[in-house]
Amino acid sequence: MKVVAYSIKSFEKEFLIRANQKKHDITLISNPLSLETAAYAEGKDAVIVFTNDDVSGSVINKLADLGVKFIATRSVGTDHIDKNAAEKKGIKLANIPSYSPHAIAEHTVALALALNRRLVIADQHSHNFDFRLDDLIGFNFYKKTVGIIGLGHTGIAAAAIFNGFGCRVLGYDIAFPEKLKKVEQVDFDTLLSESDIIDIHAPLTDQTRHMISASTISLMKKGVMLINTSRGALIKTLDVLNALETGKIGYLGLDVYEFEKDLFFEDHEDDQQQDALLKRLMDHPNVLITPHQAFLTKEALQEIANQIIANLDLWQQQKCVGDACICHKNCHVKTIAATTSQNNSIHLL
Ligand code: NAD
Repeated sequence: MKVVAYSIKSFEKEFLIRANQKKHDITLISNPLSLETAAYAEGKDAVIVFTNDDVSGSVINKLADLGVKFIATRSVGTDHIDKNAAEKKGIKLANIPSYSPHAIAEHTVALALALNRRLVIADQHSHNFDFRLDDLIGFNFYKKTVGIIGLGHTGIAAAAIFNGFGCRVLGYDIAFPEKLKKVEQVDFDTLLSESDIIDIHAPLTDQTRHMISASTISLMKKGVMLINTSRGALIKTLDVLNALETGKIGYLGLDVYEFEKDLFFEDHEDDQQQDALLKRLMDHPNVLITPHQAFLTKEALQEIANQIIANLDLWQQQKCVGDACICHKNCHVKTIAATTSQNNSIHLL
């Protein structure tokens, strides 16, 4: 297949080369997909995207006009893709349903521990040869209650780690997964009111957008720790900032941010693209922000690359991608003829 991959970082190249084995002719582009950069997809069968690419209806229409038949995202989340627009244009869609939930769960726990034990502040002090203990008091996780919203791949992996600390783990999921060992499934309000740590692993949908806002925060314990490694818009950031200012939220760990598009994944140290709301959040010593890096382990990157290539293989064989299929309606990929190119390789543009 002829493919163009957008928003590619140089560190991703080796994983894609290893996965591809020269099967597909893939052009790597560092720019994000947008109306302007869509032109790179001319003559390609498939486009590979990431979470902050613009895969809105207008971009999808342009890709369809350029002959693109397939879009694969290198992510679990699919909230950035207009699935209705793709369906109208007969473009098939795929995600990576699960590549390494442990990578995300481990980062979640790293945020929680670092916040609790003030690791960032302690390290800054130590670098200044300030070895006082003032302001570094944490709390034991042992016997605390952790509430996990979304008991899918990552939520279950996070639950296992918190169980290992000796925490009581509560879980809430709309799908009511089968009985999970050591996770008490409760309703949303019970989870909010009984948890010392609230950890979100739900997808961003119309139903989950702003599921954490002033009204749900009001149900939480005073001083609660809130961790979000899922999608920024699951929480209403302004309401969370207000709750930090009153002390209702005692700790906030974010790997994702409601307005991260066009901000995260790039160096904005010297440009004007700075975000006042994010700055206000970061002014709080009990806030820890990482730049959407929870997935970023060697194992996860290789698995993402492997599954992307497996999706391309299946599409080329005119087969549905199975669990990775995120098409709105049933996939009738058999009717689509993919072209095969001769000189297949990976090259940077
Ligand atoms: P998953 O699909 O395995 O699990 C999601 C779970 O959320 C499912 O069990 C689902 O039933 C549940 N859910 C859906 N709507 C809900 C609602 N309204 N209330 C409660 N639960 C609800 O996905 P996952 O692998 O566990 O990942 C979760 C999310 O994490 C993804 O959708 C993605 O947005 C995000 N993510 C972030 C990173 C990162 O690097 N920060 C990496 C991977 C995934």
